[in-house]
Amino acid sequence: MPVCVLNKKIYSLLVALLLLVACESNTPSYDFPVVETTEAVNITAYSVVCGGAISSSGAKISTKGVCWSVNQNPTIDDTKIQVDNDAVTFSAEIKGLQPATTYHVRAFASNAVGVSYGQEMMFTTSSVPDTDMDNDNMMLGNPTQASESVVCVDNYLMVKDQYALSYNNAKRTMNWTCWHLYSGDIGSTDRQDDFRRDYELPSSWYRVGNRDYEYSTFGFDRGHMCPSADRTKTVADNSATFLMTNMIPQAPNNNQRTWGDLEDACRELVNSGNELYIISGPYGEGGTSAKGFFTKLNSQVVVPSHTWKIVVVLPNGSGDMGRISTTTRVIAVWMPNTQTVSSQPWRYYRTSVDYIESQTGYDFLSNVPVEVQNVIEASVDSL
Ligand code: MN
Ligand code: MN
Repeated sequence: MPVCVLNKKIYSLLVALLLLVACESNTPSYDFPVVETTEAVNITAYSVVCGGAISSSGAKISTKGVCWSVNQNPTIDDTKIQVDNDAVTFSAEIKGLQPATTYHVRAFASNAVGVSYGQEMMFTTSSVPDTDMDNDNMMLGNPTQASESVVCVDNYLMVKDQYALSYNNAKRTMNWTCWHLYSGDIGSTDRQDDFRRDYELPSSWYRVGNRDYEYSTFGFDRGHMCPSADRTKTVADNSATFLMTNMIPQAPNNNQRTWGDLEDACRELVNSGNELYIISGPYGEGGTSAKGFFTKLNSQVVVPSHTWKIVVVLPNGSGDMGRISTTTRVIAVWMPNTQTVSSQPWRYYRTSVDYIESQTGYDFLSNVPVEVQNVIEASVDSL
């Protein structure tokens, strides 16, 4: 094949030429160095790692490093960092950069002849994560626009260090309670068991007391929303969970079994390196204890027909709001407030946030961008 023969001839010629060039470079020369810019990695809001590689030194290399600028074609007259070793490949961490800024970077090397630059690379530092709301019990939003005004008798906002809630003076329970849970909340404080009135309720309102649930008559537990075991760092933290504004009349098999198992599962998620944002509450009227079906207690506390909970799971970290994405795990459950609820494991009661929103009329996760809400509220956890 003539084409092949021709190719072989060209190939041989090229090899000979290369050998000639290689031989020539063995002889001392006084050229500029040849340097390549190799990387811009580990980009943060304030720093980056950049590097270079010297493929031909010419005369002995006297300086090398990287230089950068917000303008094109940075030189050593801009900002630079010098690397002092004999290696032909090198890298350096550039610090003190501005967040969310685009920089131009070039490796450089100099010898007696002069300075050479590698090709230009560009990188953009990340923006600073918004950490203002991190670990705030209400980071995800206020599902009912509850307000701290006493005029809001059925949607009264109470913000405590340990949790926040919307109180409903007509139902004599909360509408919802929300809290953040991470490893820092869990310590060795004993269960305080100091169930008591919440004197932070407006003084003209009925304040549900320790004995108002009359267990021997109605058979409902004083069921925590923010669990005692989620607040064991200090006595004050644990004691706060025993305020009656944190309770609902909960069927014992719901509270102690199915609901309790989900609470345990949440703490297991925390023990395995996650932090959680949790919202829970009662729904409807009429639940069944071992004593029968009741809509209200004598104290006019409404017995809910259902209990619901939403758990947003994030791996431990900071900038929590910005880390919630369409792939964030969200566990939502909707459970009947009955004794038979415990015939199924908690996972059986999983549903979507959208379902709970449609039942309650609340808007959960309202601080999350709507495009993200649309995805994570529609799906049902299956892990
Ligand atoms: Mn409980
Ligand atoms: Mn929502």
